[in-house]
Amino acid sequence: MPGGQILINGDWRAPASGAALPVFNPSDGAEFAKIARGSAEDIDGAVTAARAALEGGAWSKVTAVERGRLLSKMAQKVADHAEELAVLEAKDTGKPISQARADANALARYFEFYGGAADKIHGETIPYLNGYTVFTLREPHGVCGQIIPWNYPMQIFGRTACGALTMGNAVVMKPAEEACLSVLRVAELMLEVGFPPGAINIVPGLGAEAGAALADHPGIDHLSFTGSRQVGALVQAASAKYNRPCTMELGGKSPQVVFADADMDAALPFITRAIIQNAGQTCSAGSRLLVEDKVYDTFVGRVAEKFKALRAGPWDRDLDVGPLISKKQKERVDGFVEKATAAGVKLLAAGETAANAPAGGYYVAPQVYGDVPVDHLLAQEEVFGPVLAAIRFRDEADAIRIANATPYGLVAGVWTRDGGKQMRLAKAIKAGQVFINNYGAGGGIELPFGGVKGSGFGREKGFTALHDFSTLKTVAIQHG
Ligand code: NAD
Repeated sequence: MPGGQILINGDWRAPASGAALPVFNPSDGAEFAKIARGSAEDIDGAVTAARAALEGGAWSKVTAVERGRLLSKMAQKVADHAEELAVLEAKDTGKPISQARADANALARYFEFYGGAADKIHGETIPYLNGYTVFTLREPHGVCGQIIPWNYPMQIFGRTACGALTMGNAVVMKPAEEACLSVLRVAELMLEVGFPPGAINIVPGLGAEAGAALADHPGIDHLSFTGSRQVGALVQAASAKYNRPCTMELGGKSPQVVFADADMDAALPFITRAIIQNAGQTCSAGSRLLVEDKVYDTFVGRVAEKFKALRAGPWDRDLDVGPLISKKQKERVDGFVEKATAAGVKLLAAGETAANAPAGGYYVAPQVYGDVPVDHLLAQEEVFGPVLAAIRFRDEADAIRIANATPYGLVAGVWTRDGGKQMRLAKAIKAGQVFINNYGAGGGIELPFGGVKGSGFGREKGFTALHDFSTLKTVAIQHG
Protein backbone atom coordinates (compact mmCIF):
# COMPACT_ATOMS: atom_id res chain seq x y z
CA MET A 1 0.00 0.00 0.00
CA PRO A 2 1.37 3.38 -0.94
CA GLY A 3 1.46 4.90 2.55
CA GLY A 4 0.99 8.65 2.87
CA GLN A 5 0.62 9.20 -0.87
CA ILE A 6 -1.90 10.58 -3.31
CA LEU A 7 -2.86 9.18 -6.73
CA ILE A 8 -2.68 11.58 -9.64
CA ASN A 9 -2.51 10.62 -13.31
CA GLY A 10 -1.73 6.99 -12.52
CA ASP A 11 1.23 7.86 -10.27
CA TRP A 12 1.49 7.58 -6.51
CA ARG A 13 3.28 10.61 -5.13
CA ALA A 14 3.78 12.57 -1.94
CA PRO A 15 1.39 15.51 -1.46
CA ALA A 16 2.79 18.94 -2.33
CA SER A 17 3.06 19.87 1.35
CA GLY A 18 4.83 16.60 2.22
CA ALA A 19 2.51 16.43 5.24
CA ALA A 20 0.75 13.36 6.60
CA LEU A 21 -2.24 12.64 8.84
CA PRO A 22 -2.33 9.89 11.47
CA VAL A 23 -4.85 7.05 11.15
CA PHE A 24 -6.21 5.57 14.39
CA ASN A 25 -7.54 2.09 14.97
CA PRO A 26 -10.95 2.76 16.58
CA SER A 27 -10.83 -0.61 18.32
CA ASP A 28 -7.90 0.42 20.55
CA GLY A 29 -7.28 4.10 19.80
CA ALA A 30 -3.69 3.47 18.64
CA GLU A 31 -2.19 5.10 15.56
CA PHE A 32 -1.49 2.41 12.97
CA ALA A 33 -0.99 4.16 9.61
CA LYS A 34 -0.54 7.51 7.92
CA ILE A 35 -2.32 9.08 4.97
CA ALA A 36 -1.37 12.08 2.91
CA ARG A 37 -2.59 15.50 3.90
CA GLY A 38 -3.59 16.69 0.44
CA SER A 39 -3.97 20.40 -0.25
CA ALA A 40 -5.51 22.74 -2.81
CA GLU A 41 -2.36 22.34 -4.90
CA ASP A 42 -2.83 18.55 -5.06
CA ILE A 43 -6.51 18.91 -5.90
CA ASP A 44 -5.58 21.23 -8.73
CA GLY A 45 -3.07 18.69 -10.04
CA ALA A 46 -5.69 15.93 -9.86
CA VAL A 47 -8.31 17.99 -11.70
CA THR A 48 -5.78 18.85 -14.40
CA ALA A 49 -4.90 15.15 -14.81
CA ALA A 50 -8.57 14.17 -14.99
CA ARG A 51 -9.22 16.82 -17.62
CA ALA A 52 -6.26 15.65 -19.69
CA ALA A 53 -7.49 12.05 -19.46
CA LEU A 54 -10.81 13.17 -20.96
CA GLU A 55 -9.45 15.54 -23.58
CA GLY A 56 -7.22 13.46 -25.81
CA GLY A 57 -5.87 11.20 -23.05
CA ALA A 58 -6.15 7.42 -23.03
CA TRP A 59 -9.43 7.45 -21.06
CA SER A 60 -11.16 9.47 -23.79
CA LYS A 61 -10.45 6.66 -26.28
CA VAL A 62 -11.87 3.85 -24.17
CA THR A 63 -15.21 2.71 -25.62
CA ALA A 64 -18.28 1.88 -23.54
CA VAL A 65 -17.77 -1.85 -23.98
CA GLU A 66 -14.12 -1.52 -22.92
CA ARG A 67 -15.15 0.49 -19.85
CA GLY A 68 -17.51 -2.32 -18.99
CA ARG A 69 -14.73 -4.87 -19.32
CA LEU A 70 -12.41 -2.85 -17.07
CA LEU A 71 -15.13 -2.57 -14.43
CA SER A 72 -15.89 -6.30 -14.71
CA LYS A 73 -12.19 -7.15 -14.32
CA MET A 74 -12.22 -5.06 -11.16
CA ALA A 75 -15.19 -7.04 -9.85
CA GLN A 76 -13.06 -10.17 -10.06
CA LYS A 77 -10.02 -8.37 -8.65
CA VAL A 78 -12.00 -7.19 -5.62
CA ALA A 79 -13.38 -10.70 -5.14
CA ASP A 80 -9.81 -12.05 -5.26
CA HIS A 81 -8.69 -9.49 -2.65
CA ALA A 82 -11.91 -9.53 -0.60
CA GLU A 83 -10.40 -10.76 2.65
CA GLU A 84 -7.46 -8.34 2.50
CA LEU A 85 -9.85 -5.43 1.80
CA ALA A 86 -12.23 -6.53 4.55
CA VAL A 87 -9.44 -6.64 7.16
CA LEU A 88 -8.20 -3.21 6.08
CA GLU A 89 -11.72 -1.78 6.28
CA ALA A 90 -12.44 -3.39 9.66
CA LYS A 91 -9.20 -2.11 11.17
CA ASP A 92 -9.68 1.37 9.73
CA THR A 93 -13.37 1.85 10.61
CA GLY A 94 -13.68 -0.49 13.61
CA LYS A 95 -16.61 -2.40 12.14
CA PRO A 96 -16.85 -6.14 12.94
CA ILE A 97 -15.03 -8.21 10.35
CA SER A 98 -18.19 -9.94 9.07
CA GLN A 99 -19.69 -6.53 8.28
CA ALA A 100 -16.49 -5.50 6.50
CA ARG A 101 -16.62 -8.75 4.50
CA ALA A 102 -20.15 -7.84 3.41
CA ASP A 103 -18.82 -4.42 2.33
CA ALA A 104 -16.07 -6.04 0.22
CA ASN A 105 -18.69 -8.22 -1.46
CA ALA A 106 -20.85 -5.17 -2.09
CA LEU A 107 -17.90 -3.38 -3.68
CA ALA A 108 -17.34 -6.32 -6.02
CA ARG A 109 -21.06 -6.19 -6.88
CA TYR A 110 -20.85 -2.48 -7.75
CA PHE A 111 -18.09 -3.20 -10.24
CA GLU A 112 -20.02 -6.21 -11.55
CA PHE A 113 -23.33 -4.35 -11.88
CA TYR A 114 -21.86 -1.29 -13.58
CA GLY A 115 -19.51 -3.40 -15.68
CA GLY A 116 -22.58 -5.01 -17.19
CA ALA A 117 -24.38 -1.69 -17.61
CA ALA A 118 -21.65 0.35 -19.33
CA ASP A 119 -22.68 -0.45 -22.92
CA LYS A 120 -26.42 -0.64 -22.27
CA ILE A 121 -27.31 2.97 -21.66
CA HIS A 122 -28.05 5.14 -24.65
CA GLY A 123 -30.15 7.94 -26.06
CA GLU A 124 -33.31 7.77 -28.14
CA THR A 125 -34.83 9.11 -31.33
CA ILE A 126 -37.73 11.53 -31.03
CA PRO A 127 -40.48 12.05 -33.66
CA TYR A 128 -40.49 15.76 -34.59
CA LEU A 129 -41.31 17.95 -37.59
CA ASN A 130 -41.32 16.65 -41.16
CA GLY A 131 -37.83 16.76 -42.63
CA TYR A 132 -36.12 16.42 -39.23
CA THR A 133 -34.35 13.66 -37.37
CA VAL A 134 -33.92 14.23 -33.66
CA PHE A 135 -31.92 12.07 -31.31
CA THR A 136 -30.42 12.33 -27.87
CA LEU A 137 -26.89 11.53 -26.74
CA ARG A 138 -26.11 10.53 -23.19
CA GLU A 139 -22.71 12.06 -22.45
CA PRO A 140 -20.42 12.15 -19.43
CA HIS A 141 -20.36 15.34 -17.36
CA GLY A 142 -16.57 15.42 -17.62
CA VAL A 143 -14.54 15.70 -14.41
CA CYS A 144 -16.52 14.42 -11.41
CA GLY A 145 -15.44 15.70 -7.99
CA GLN A 146 -16.42 13.25 -5.27
CA ILE A 147 -16.27 13.75 -1.50
CA ILE A 148 -17.12 10.71 0.61
CA PRO A 149 -17.35 9.89 4.35
CA TRP A 150 -15.71 7.30 6.60
CA ASN A 151 -18.58 5.01 7.52
CA TYR A 152 -18.55 2.78 4.42
CA PRO A 153 -15.44 3.84 2.48
CA MET A 154 -15.46 0.84 0.11
CA GLN A 155 -19.18 0.77 -0.53
CA ILE A 156 -19.48 4.51 -1.06
CA PHE A 157 -16.44 4.45 -3.33
CA GLY A 158 -18.28 1.73 -5.28
CA ARG A 159 -21.47 3.64 -5.77
CA THR A 160 -19.94 7.03 -6.59
CA ALA A 161 -16.77 6.23 -8.51
CA CYS A 162 -18.13 3.19 -10.41
CA GLY A 163 -21.23 5.09 -11.53
CA ALA A 164 -19.18 8.02 -12.80
CA LEU A 165 -16.58 5.86 -14.55
CA THR A 166 -19.27 3.73 -16.21
CA MET A 167 -20.47 6.82 -18.07
CA GLY A 168 -16.93 7.80 -19.10
CA ASN A 169 -16.33 10.58 -16.59
CA ALA A 170 -12.94 11.03 -14.93
CA VAL A 171 -12.96 11.09 -11.13
CA VAL A 172 -11.17 13.18 -8.53
CA MET A 173 -12.04 11.80 -5.12
CA LYS A 174 -11.40 13.24 -1.67
CA PRO A 175 -12.09 10.38 0.75
CA ALA A 176 -12.55 10.92 4.49
CA GLU A 177 -9.53 11.58 6.68
CA GLU A 178 -10.87 9.23 9.40
CA ALA A 179 -10.89 6.12 7.18
CA CYS A 180 -9.81 5.74 3.57
CA LEU A 181 -7.16 2.98 3.42
CA SER A 182 -9.42 0.60 1.50
CA VAL A 183 -10.17 3.30 -1.06
CA LEU A 184 -6.45 3.79 -1.70
CA ARG A 185 -5.94 0.04 -2.04
CA VAL A 186 -8.88 -0.29 -4.45
CA ALA A 187 -7.47 2.53 -6.58
CA GLU A 188 -4.16 0.67 -6.67
CA LEU A 189 -5.97 -2.46 -7.89
CA MET A 190 -7.70 -0.38 -10.55
CA LEU A 191 -4.35 0.62 -12.00
CA GLU A 192 -3.37 -3.07 -12.05
CA VAL A 193 -6.41 -4.03 -14.14
CA GLY A 194 -5.65 -1.26 -16.63
CA PHE A 195 -7.62 1.89 -15.83
CA PRO A 196 -5.60 4.50 -17.73
CA PRO A 197 -3.82 7.46 -16.09
CA GLY A 198 -6.11 10.23 -14.88
CA ALA A 199 -9.37 8.23 -14.99
CA ILE A 200 -9.29 7.86 -11.22
CA ASN A 201 -7.41 10.27 -8.95
CA ILE A 202 -7.48 10.14 -5.15
CA VAL A 203 -6.41 12.96 -2.84
CA PRO A 204 -6.89 12.20 0.86
CA GLY A 205 -6.81 15.14 3.26
CA LEU A 206 -8.82 17.24 5.65
CA GLY A 207 -12.33 18.34 4.75
CA ALA A 208 -11.65 22.03 5.28
CA GLU A 209 -8.51 21.85 3.11
CA ALA A 210 -8.61 19.26 0.30
CA GLY A 211 -12.42 18.84 0.50
CA ALA A 212 -13.15 22.55 0.34
CA ALA A 213 -10.59 22.99 -2.46
CA LEU A 214 -12.31 20.27 -4.53
CA ALA A 215 -15.81 21.68 -3.98
CA ASP A 216 -14.58 25.14 -4.94
CA HIS A 217 -12.50 24.07 -7.96
CA PRO A 218 -13.68 25.70 -11.19
CA GLY A 219 -12.47 22.72 -13.22
CA ILE A 220 -14.98 20.10 -12.08
CA ASP A 221 -18.23 19.49 -13.96
CA HIS A 222 -20.23 17.55 -11.37
CA LEU A 223 -19.96 17.15 -7.60
CA SER A 224 -21.07 14.11 -5.61
CA PHE A 225 -21.07 14.70 -1.89
CA THR A 226 -21.90 12.10 0.76
CA GLY A 227 -21.80 13.39 4.29
CA SER A 228 -23.51 15.66 6.77
CA ARG A 229 -26.21 18.21 5.97
CA GLN A 230 -24.02 21.00 7.32
CA VAL A 231 -21.06 20.30 5.03
CA GLY A 232 -23.49 19.49 2.22
CA ALA A 233 -24.73 23.08 2.40
CA LEU A 234 -21.14 24.40 2.22
CA VAL A 235 -20.20 22.38 -0.86
CA GLN A 236 -23.43 23.34 -2.59
CA ALA A 237 -22.69 27.00 -1.93
CA ALA A 238 -19.25 26.53 -3.48
CA SER A 239 -20.78 24.73 -6.47
CA ALA A 240 -23.45 27.38 -6.96
CA LYS A 241 -20.71 29.83 -7.97
CA TYR A 242 -20.18 27.71 -11.06
CA ASN A 243 -23.85 26.64 -11.51
CA ARG A 244 -22.58 23.09 -11.34
CA PRO A 245 -24.83 20.02 -10.98
CA CYS A 246 -24.53 18.13 -7.69
CA THR A 247 -25.66 14.90 -6.12
CA MET A 248 -26.18 15.26 -2.37
CA GLU A 249 -26.33 12.10 -0.24
CA LEU A 250 -26.88 13.48 3.26
CA GLY A 251 -28.08 12.19 6.58
CA GLY A 252 -31.23 10.52 7.81
CA LYS A 253 -33.48 9.83 10.80
CA SER A 254 -35.26 6.90 9.28
CA PRO A 255 -38.45 5.49 10.84
CA GLN A 256 -39.40 1.85 11.22
CA VAL A 257 -43.20 1.85 11.52
CA VAL A 258 -44.68 -1.22 13.24
CA PHE A 259 -48.45 -1.76 13.15
CA ALA A 260 -50.29 -4.06 15.53
CA ASP A 261 -50.94 -6.64 12.78
CA ALA A 262 -47.25 -6.98 11.82
CA ASP A 263 -45.32 -10.22 11.91
CA MET A 264 -43.38 -9.28 15.03
CA ASP A 265 -41.01 -12.24 14.86
CA ALA A 266 -39.98 -11.23 11.35
CA ALA A 267 -39.67 -7.54 12.25
CA LEU A 268 -37.54 -7.93 15.38
CA PRO A 269 -34.19 -8.92 13.83
CA PHE A 270 -34.51 -6.33 11.03
CA ILE A 271 -35.30 -3.58 13.52
CA THR A 272 -32.32 -4.44 15.68
CA ARG A 273 -29.91 -4.82 12.78
CA ALA A 274 -31.02 -1.58 11.11
CA ILE A 275 -29.75 0.46 14.07
CA ILE A 276 -26.74 -1.56 15.23
CA GLN A 277 -25.21 -2.19 11.80
CA ASN A 278 -21.90 -0.30 11.71
CA ALA A 279 -22.66 0.81 15.30
CA GLY A 280 -25.47 3.03 14.04
CA GLN A 281 -23.09 5.01 11.84
CA THR A 282 -25.19 4.43 8.75
CA CYS A 283 -27.02 7.24 6.96
CA SER A 284 -30.02 4.95 6.48
CA ALA A 285 -29.95 3.51 10.01
CA GLY A 286 -33.46 2.76 11.26
CA SER A 287 -33.01 5.05 14.23
CA ARG A 288 -36.68 5.71 15.08
CA LEU A 289 -38.98 2.85 16.06
CA LEU A 290 -42.63 3.90 15.70
CA VAL A 291 -44.96 1.34 17.28
CA GLU A 292 -48.78 1.27 17.38
CA ASP A 293 -50.08 2.03 20.84
CA LYS A 294 -51.86 -1.27 21.46
CA VAL A 295 -48.71 -3.37 20.91
CA TYR A 296 -46.15 -0.78 22.00
CA ASP A 297 -45.37 -2.21 25.42
CA THR A 298 -45.07 -5.82 24.31
CA PHE A 299 -43.11 -5.16 21.12
CA VAL A 300 -40.77 -2.52 22.56
CA GLY A 301 -40.27 -4.88 25.51
CA ARG A 302 -39.08 -7.58 23.11
CA VAL A 303 -36.73 -5.10 21.42
CA ALA A 304 -35.36 -4.11 24.83
CA GLU A 305 -34.69 -7.76 25.71
CA LYS A 306 -32.75 -8.14 22.49
CA PHE A 307 -30.70 -5.00 23.17
CA LYS A 308 -29.64 -6.30 26.60
CA ALA A 309 -27.88 -9.19 24.91
CA LEU A 310 -25.91 -7.04 22.42
CA ARG A 311 -22.16 -6.72 22.85
CA ALA A 312 -19.67 -4.14 21.57
CA GLY A 313 -16.06 -5.11 20.95
CA PRO A 314 -13.05 -4.83 18.63
CA TRP A 315 -13.34 -5.58 14.92
CA ASP A 316 -11.60 -8.94 15.12
CA ARG A 317 -13.92 -10.27 17.87
CA ASP A 318 -16.77 -9.88 15.38
CA LEU A 319 -19.42 -9.08 17.99
CA ASP A 320 -22.73 -7.27 17.41
CA VAL A 321 -21.17 -3.82 17.17
CA GLY A 322 -17.70 -2.40 16.84
CA PRO A 323 -16.42 0.89 18.27
CA LEU A 324 -17.42 4.27 16.88
CA ILE A 325 -15.04 5.81 14.36
CA SER A 326 -13.33 8.33 16.67
CA LYS A 327 -13.12 9.84 20.12
CA LYS A 328 -14.97 12.87 18.76
CA GLN A 329 -17.84 10.74 17.47
CA LYS A 330 -18.06 8.87 20.78
CA GLU A 331 -18.23 12.16 22.68
CA ARG A 332 -20.97 13.34 20.34
CA VAL A 333 -23.08 10.22 20.87
CA ASP A 334 -22.49 10.26 24.65
CA GLY A 335 -23.63 13.91 24.58
CA PHE A 336 -26.98 12.92 23.02
CA VAL A 337 -27.46 10.25 25.66
CA GLU A 338 -26.66 12.65 28.50
CA LYS A 339 -29.15 15.23 27.17
CA ALA A 340 -31.84 12.56 26.82
CA THR A 341 -31.28 11.39 30.39
CA ALA A 342 -31.28 14.95 31.71
CA ALA A 343 -34.61 15.56 29.92
CA GLY A 344 -36.13 12.50 31.62
CA VAL A 345 -36.26 10.27 28.55
CA LYS A 346 -36.15 6.72 29.83
CA LEU A 347 -33.40 4.25 28.97
CA LEU A 348 -35.29 0.99 28.38
CA ALA A 349 -32.31 -1.28 27.85
CA ALA A 350 -28.63 -1.26 26.97
CA GLY A 351 -26.14 -3.84 25.83
CA GLU A 352 -22.59 -3.94 27.13
CA THR A 353 -19.07 -3.37 26.00
CA ALA A 354 -17.24 -6.72 26.09
CA ALA A 355 -15.23 -7.03 29.30
CA ASN A 356 -11.89 -7.48 27.55
CA ALA A 357 -12.35 -4.82 24.84
CA PRO A 358 -9.21 -2.63 24.60
CA ALA A 359 -9.44 0.32 26.98
CA GLY A 360 -8.51 2.90 24.33
CA GLY A 361 -11.34 1.92 21.93
CA TYR A 362 -14.31 4.19 21.22
CA TYR A 363 -17.08 1.87 22.40
CA VAL A 364 -20.72 2.77 22.93
CA ALA A 365 -23.07 -0.05 23.91
CA PRO A 366 -26.35 -0.27 21.94
CA GLN A 367 -29.22 1.49 23.76
CA VAL A 368 -32.96 1.86 23.32
CA TYR A 369 -34.93 4.81 24.73
CA GLY A 370 -38.68 5.26 25.05
CA ASP A 371 -41.28 6.66 25.00
CA VAL A 372 -39.37 9.43 23.20
CA PRO A 373 -41.41 12.62 22.59
CA VAL A 374 -41.65 13.40 18.87
CA ASP A 375 -39.98 16.77 19.26
CA HIS A 376 -37.10 15.54 21.45
CA LEU A 377 -33.67 15.69 19.85
CA LEU A 378 -33.39 11.88 20.07
CA ALA A 379 -36.40 11.74 17.75
CA GLN A 380 -35.23 14.59 15.52
CA GLU A 381 -31.46 14.59 15.12
CA GLU A 382 -29.12 12.09 13.56
CA VAL A 383 -27.18 10.57 16.48
CA PHE A 384 -24.98 8.39 14.27
CA GLY A 385 -24.52 5.82 17.02
CA PRO A 386 -26.30 2.62 18.20
CA VAL A 387 -29.13 4.52 19.88
CA LEU A 388 -32.75 3.66 19.06
CA ALA A 389 -35.65 6.01 19.89
CA ALA A 390 -38.96 4.20 20.45
CA ILE A 391 -42.05 6.33 19.81
CA ARG A 392 -45.73 5.48 20.29
CA PHE A 393 -48.43 6.18 17.66
CA ARG A 394 -52.23 5.95 17.77
CA ASP A 395 -53.33 5.10 14.24
CA GLU A 396 -52.29 5.23 10.60
CA ALA A 397 -52.63 9.01 10.26
CA ASP A 398 -50.57 9.53 13.43
CA ALA A 399 -47.90 7.13 12.14
CA ILE A 400 -47.59 9.06 8.87
CA ARG A 401 -47.45 12.38 10.68
CA ILE A 402 -44.66 11.22 13.01
CA ALA A 403 -42.74 9.43 10.26
CA ASN A 404 -42.59 12.69 8.32
CA ALA A 405 -41.92 14.93 11.32
CA THR A 406 -38.15 15.37 10.93
CA PRO A 407 -36.06 17.46 8.55
CA TYR A 408 -34.88 14.22 6.89
CA GLY A 409 -36.33 11.87 4.27
CA LEU A 410 -33.94 9.07 3.42
CA VAL A 411 -35.37 5.60 4.12
CA ALA A 412 -38.38 4.11 5.94
CA GLY A 413 -39.53 0.65 6.97
CA VAL A 414 -43.20 -0.33 7.32
CA TRP A 415 -44.34 -3.50 9.08
CA THR A 416 -47.94 -4.59 8.49
CA ARG A 417 -49.83 -7.47 6.88
CA ASP A 418 -52.50 -5.09 5.56
CA GLY A 419 -51.93 -4.53 1.82
CA GLY A 420 -53.87 -1.27 1.82
CA LYS A 421 -51.74 0.16 4.62
CA GLN A 422 -48.60 -1.00 2.84
CA MET A 423 -49.52 0.96 -0.29
CA ARG A 424 -50.78 4.05 1.54
CA LEU A 425 -47.70 4.29 3.76
CA ALA A 426 -45.35 3.66 0.83
CA LYS A 427 -46.86 6.71 -0.86
CA ALA A 428 -47.38 8.95 2.17
CA ILE A 429 -43.94 8.67 3.75
CA LYS A 430 -41.50 11.22 2.42
CA ALA A 431 -38.35 9.20 1.76
CA GLY A 432 -36.12 8.06 -1.08
CA GLN A 433 -36.69 4.38 -0.25
CA VAL A 434 -39.53 2.63 1.58
CA PHE A 435 -39.14 -1.01 2.61
CA ILE A 436 -42.31 -2.98 3.38
CA ASN A 437 -41.82 -5.92 5.76
CA ASN A 438 -38.04 -5.74 5.33
CA TYR A 439 -35.34 -3.12 5.73
CA GLY A 440 -32.12 -2.62 3.81
CA ALA A 441 -29.87 -0.20 5.63
CA GLY A 442 -27.33 0.72 2.99
CA GLY A 443 -28.11 -2.38 0.96
CA GLY A 444 -29.13 -3.06 -2.61
CA ILE A 445 -26.62 -2.20 -5.31
CA GLU A 446 -29.47 -2.40 -7.85
CA LEU A 447 -31.82 -0.11 -5.92
CA PRO A 448 -31.79 3.65 -6.62
CA PHE A 449 -30.77 5.40 -3.41
CA GLY A 450 -30.91 8.98 -2.19
CA GLY A 451 -33.01 11.36 -0.18
CA VAL A 452 -35.72 13.96 -0.20
CA LYS A 453 -35.99 17.01 2.08
CA GLY A 454 -32.84 17.48 4.19
CA SER A 455 -31.46 14.09 3.14
CA GLY A 456 -30.37 15.45 -0.20
CA PHE A 457 -31.15 14.97 -3.87
CA GLY A 458 -30.02 13.01 -6.87
CA ARG A 459 -29.72 9.25 -6.93
CA GLU A 460 -26.83 6.84 -6.68
CA LYS A 461 -26.93 3.04 -7.08
CA GLY A 462 -28.84 1.08 -9.67
CA PHE A 463 -29.28 1.96 -13.31
CA THR A 464 -30.90 5.30 -12.43
CA ALA A 465 -27.60 6.63 -11.07
CA LEU A 466 -26.18 6.54 -14.57
CA HIS A 467 -28.59 9.34 -15.51
CA ASP A 468 -27.22 11.44 -12.66
CA PHE A 469 -23.65 10.69 -13.74
CA SER A 470 -24.33 11.86 -17.31
CA THR A 471 -26.02 14.62 -19.20
CA LEU A 472 -28.45 14.49 -22.12
CA LYS A 473 -27.78 16.30 -25.36
CA THR A 474 -30.54 16.70 -27.97
CA VAL A 475 -29.45 16.81 -31.62
CA ALA A 476 -32.00 18.08 -34.17
CA ILE A 477 -31.05 17.65 -37.85
CA GLN A 478 -33.05 19.30 -40.59
CA HIS A 479 -32.49 17.32 -43.76
CA GLY A 480 -35.62 18.11 -45.81
P1 NAD B 1 -18.90 15.23 7.09
O1 NAD B 1 -19.89 16.00 6.30
O2 NAD B 1 -18.25 15.89 8.24
O3 NAD B 1 -17.71 14.69 6.15
C1 NAD B 1 -17.95 14.04 4.94
C2 NAD B 1 -16.82 14.36 3.98
O4 NAD B 1 -16.80 15.77 3.75
C3 NAD B 1 -15.44 13.98 4.49
O5 NAD B 1 -14.65 13.52 3.41
C4 NAD B 1 -14.90 15.31 4.99
O6 NAD B 1 -13.49 15.38 4.97
C5 NAD B 1 -15.49 16.25 3.98
N1 NAD B 1 -15.59 17.65 4.46
C6 NAD B 1 -15.66 18.08 5.75
N2 NAD B 1 -15.68 19.44 5.77
C7 NAD B 1 -15.63 19.85 4.48
C8 NAD B 1 -15.65 21.14 3.86
N3 NAD B 1 -15.71 22.27 4.56
N4 NAD B 1 -15.62 21.19 2.49
C9 NAD B 1 -15.59 20.06 1.77
N5 NAD B 1 -15.53 18.82 2.30
C10 NAD B 1 -15.57 18.72 3.64
O7 NAD B 1 -19.67 13.93 7.52
P2 NAD B 1 -19.17 12.82 8.49
O8 NAD B 1 -19.45 13.21 9.89
O9 NAD B 1 -17.79 12.45 8.14
O10 NAD B 1 -20.15 11.63 8.02
C11 NAD B 1 -21.35 11.41 8.61
C12 NAD B 1 -22.49 12.05 7.83
O11 NAD B 1 -22.55 11.53 6.52
C13 NAD B 1 -23.83 11.71 8.44
O12 NAD B 1 -24.65 12.84 8.43
C14 NAD B 1 -24.37 10.65 7.52
O13 NAD B 1 -25.76 10.50 7.52
C15 NAD B 1 -23.86 11.10 6.21
N6 NAD B 1 -23.86 9.98 5.25
C16 NAD B 1 -24.80 9.98 4.27
C17 NAD B 1 -24.86 8.92 3.38
C18 NAD B 1 -25.90 8.89 2.30
O14 NAD B 1 -25.73 8.14 1.36
N7 NAD B 1 -26.97 9.65 2.36
C19 NAD B 1 -23.94 7.88 3.48
C20 NAD B 1 -23.00 7.92 4.49
C21 NAD B 1 -22.96 9.00 5.38
